[in-house]
Amino acid sequence: MRASTPTPPARHILGVRIDDITMDETLAQIQHMLSDGATHQIVTVNPEFVMTAQHNAAFRAVLAQADLAVPDGVGLLYAARWQGQPLRERVTGVALAERLAQASATHGWRIFLLGAAPGVAERAAAVLQQRYPGCQIVGTLAGSPRAADYPVVAAALTASQPDIVLVAYGAPAQDLWIAEHKAELQLRLGIGVGGTFDYLAGVQPHAPRWLRQIGLEWLYRLITQPQRWRRILTAVPVFGWAAWREARKVRRAKRNP
Ligand code: UDP
Repeated sequence: MRASTPTPPARHILGVRIDDITMDETLAQIQHMLSDGATHQIVTVNPEFVMTAQHNAAFRAVLAQADLAVPDGVGLLYAARWQGQPLRERVTGVALAERLAQASATHGWRIFLLGAAPGVAERAAAVLQQRYPGCQIVGTLAGSPRAADYPVVAAALTASQPDIVLVAYGAPAQDLWIAEHKAELQLRLGIGVGGTFDYLAGVQPHAPRWLRQIGLEWLYRLITQPQRWRRILTAVPVFGWAAWREARKVRRAKRNP
């Protein structure tokens, strides 16, 4: 179910919905979600999500049903522009985690960091607590999306009563996991955040800001994490080609309705 605050305009790239929402608007929507007593899910979409959704129907459904689908990957901004319907701003998982930690210090939002390798979520929590004194990180756990680990994860979440659970199991596992368990765990808000804890903890180097601004984060990743070449191939040329062809069709249809 989508949030009942004003629904942000959506774009559709290769059949996947992406909301045209800014970081400030995302925070406002989250404030609203946390006040209505229901369960909510936010997905942080990037080109790899879009390509995975082409052949994974369950993931496609989860992306479609999320309360918010924020544009995490710069490739989506290009694709939307090619269609003549630009997205205003990139809302990344890392930046969102930081803004939530900041808001937590003011509003008392209780945040749980779930996922990443053992010890990484703890280090990410320490970084957030140091940067945003007073932020309420109420628990951390490496956990895993495996069914065998569910009881331990469920017990940790029940004991710490978070408002927001950031889940870093990688996509699509994290988003499928939230969708499957949010009701029984009564998650007020679950957000899949991918490699966010790795960046915050300094396990993975973050591309310099100037490279991110010109959309070349993928090149930095290719150089620093060459083992990801297959994923980068999917996210950059494969996605780029498919999105470009779709945009050409969209533009043609607009010219000749
Ligand atoms: N991960 C995990 N459990 C798993 C699989 C992955 O905790 O079963 C973590 C992994 O350690 C990493 C995150 O999920 O911290 C996903 O990282 P990835 O590089 O896939 O995310 P992206 O960079 O695409 O956002």
